[in-house]
Amino acid sequence: MSETRRRILLSIPHLSGREERYVREAFESNWVAPLGPNVDAFEAALATYLGVEEVAALSSGTAALHLALVLAGVGPGDTVLVSDLTFVATVNPIRYAGAVPVLVDADEATWNLDPGLLEEALRDLAGHGVRPRALVVAHLFGVCADMDPILAVCREHGLVVVEDAAEALGATYRGRPAGTLGDFGVFSFNGNKVITTSGGGALTARDPALVRRARFLATQARDPAPHYQHSVLGYNYRMSNVVAGIGRGQMEVLAERVEARRANFAFYSDTVGRLPGVRMMPSPAYGQHLHWLSCCTIDPDVFGCDRTALMTRLDREHDIETRPVWKPMHLQPLYADARCYGGAVGEHLFDQGLCLPSASSLTRADLARVAAAMEACRR
Ligand SMILES: *Cc1c(COP(=O)(O)O)cnc(C)c1O
Repeated sequence: MSETRRRILLSIPHLSGREERYVREAFESNWVAPLGPNVDAFEAALATYLGVEEVAALSSGTAALHLALVLAGVGPGDTVLVSDLTFVATVNPIRYAGAVPVLVDADEATWNLDPGLLEEALRDLAGHGVRPRALVVAHLFGVCADMDPILAVCREHGLVVVEDAAEALGATYRGRPAGTLGDFGVFSFNGNKVITTSGGGALTARDPALVRRARFLATQARDPAPHYQHSVLGYNYRMSNVVAGIGRGQMEVLAERVEARRANFAFYSDTVGRLPGVRMMPSPAYGQHLHWLSCCTIDPDVFGCDRTALMTRLDREHDIETRPVWKPMHLQPLYADARCYGGAVGEHLFDQGLCLPSASSLTRADLARVAAAMEACRR
């Protein structure tokens, strides 16, 4: 092709133009610190959006997950169940807390944690005398896990439930926002997420007192005293007031960004999803999912080439960036020794799964270009 084509990337920041004002305010008022009016306003905007009392703005989603586990009382030697098919940041904080992760596979119908397998795992672990303290469940690519049966099983076995909603801000499960269903909910504002602060995270909890406790722990757990006094182990996990200014500007367009991601998925479902050998990620009827990334599987025998060859062709011939679905944790060298229930579903999705360009800034023409490129690669 002779014309110069813009490269289509997987998921990039999409600014509203309103971020700079808040960042400038931080500079003008000299609130270049962790804490300040932008942090307060960003937290308030998130709390309103989620319909909760308290949200703590933190330095990353990973930090929020770590604090959730600390607040859940997870400590050395404890067992924590966790989604096997996810990004590594879902699992690492379990190790930070000194606890032992036990992986649970996804189910085919949702690509998310399999509630039946979770129940089996808990029964089997009980047989070995192991009583896990918590579950960390990810909402994969902005599609909610089936929370009702998951919460029921966890209640029965006395597990604290941490929702890793890093990919799911804006998704709902039976009308309720992802991240507000369990005991703790975690969000991320990394550069590739539905909204970004360039880097950051947030924590909410069923008990608002625990969110206030999270703010205390996130600022080195300093006791109220005129001098520096510390009775418990704290962290430096607070979000800066500069960064929170970006978050304020992003919150003003969150609803639009969510709609754009959903529209991407709808477009791909009507185009790419109709190609032989392609199946879109399920969009289970129990929720209004975000579809942070639009994903599909490629059956090589029907499609004509396999996922990896397709990725290479999209990249080299069409200047389109795609990614494989997350590699399951039980296949990672880091977690090779972890106990895992199931694993075949995640392996299949890793083998055939493809994440399509999904930025909220993609135009209709961009989406059509991706769809046409996918069709061309079939021949
Ligand atoms: C992005 C992400 C995280 C981590 O968030 P950070 O803000 O980058 O630390 C955690 N879990 C999942 C599933 C994610 O996609």
